[in-house]
Amino acid sequence: MRVKCFECGKEGDLTIEAWCCNCGGAWEPAGIPPFDLNAIKKGDSSIWRYGSILGLDILEPFKRMGVGWTPLVPVKIFDKNTLLKLEYLSPSGSFKDRGVNTMVNQLISMNVNTIVEDSSGNAGASVAAHAARFGLNGRIFVPEYASPGKIKQIADYGVEVITIQGTRRDVEKAAQAAIMPGVAYASHAYHPAYLAGQVTAAYECWEQLGGKAPDWILLPVAQGGQFLGYWFGFSYLLQAGLIEKMPHMVAVQSAQVAPIFHAWRKGLGDIPGVEALGPTLAEGVAIGKPVRGKRILQALRETDGRVIAINETEIIDAQKLCSRLGYFIELTSALAVAGMKHLLDEITEEEDILLPLTGNGLKGVPKIYSG
Ligand SMILES: [Zn+2]
Repeated sequence: MRVKCFECGKEGDLTIEAWCCNCGGAWEPAGIPPFDLNAIKKGDSSIWRYGSILGLDILEPFKRMGVGWTPLVPVKIFDKNTLLKLEYLSPSGSFKDRGVNTMVNQLISMNVNTIVEDSSGNAGASVAAHAARFGLNGRIFVPEYASPGKIKQIADYGVEVITIQGTRRDVEKAAQAAIMPGVAYASHAYHPAYLAGQVTAAYECWEQLGGKAPDWILLPVAQGGQFLGYWFGFSYLLQAGLIEKMPHMVAVQSAQVAPIFHAWRKGLGDIPGVEALGPTLAEGVAIGKPVRGKRILQALRETDGRVIAINETEIIDAQKLCSRLGYFIELTSALAVAGMKHLLDEITEEEDILLPLTGNGLKGVPKIYSG
């Protein structure tokens, strides 16, 4: 797989050992071909309908998992035309499966049989589910403070769960130290094939909307894999002349941990990172410094985007609002819905807003009830 470092411009073939660039930058896929209508495999209701235009070394998965082609449902929220993309219906219960599915298939094509990841949440569950489905050894490093329910889901897939004392960064370092020949870092933050898989969400929406883009996309953003996937995907559709303009990309964060919000407000070109002000119900986005910060800011600038920080009460209210519509989502997912309320004066009656519902509410039931 051809990869390129956005930080220093270095390009090369992906290897197991060099999971990031020498400069510390995360690799991006470098070989994604122009979007081609004729490349779509119409009978394939999964992310692999775009398998030949993702820039991977493989065109077909080694095994079918059932990831992709999630429903897109039009509803009215705050009287606005809203499109809910039900990403939480994926096998492990979150949008992470898109990128993890392409990443795991790419790694198997590189003769990997053991994968390591650091995550106590949806990414860890997705990597663990894929390890089970594909018969790989999975080692998931989790922080000691992770919620027992999420660790239970990860462990239930039969992977090895390694609990690390210390900060989230210590957990990341422990996972990275376990990388060796044959043992690959299946990182949702760093892996370029993960990013390639997230691009499929944009292509799907475009097809499901009859060949157009929404006017706005609102997303909870932590590392920004999903955010950048939509941005890259719609950029490729624009380059192919298949849409007329880019959607406004809106990153929604918890006010408790809002590195993008603060960097954007200050007009910075990179995201220096922040310390959390305290715990947040939106635990899936509690990342102080996203790995691909420059790219996230670029996407915001180039699409006349917005960044919104949401308080804890707003998160609970938005989650309940979704339940009353019939969609039981986790609190992190509710950030995007809460973000809509901040844009009501800007979004017109004719415009469409895409809201990917990222994670299943069943994952966070105790927190929702106690909230
Ligand atoms: Zn570099």
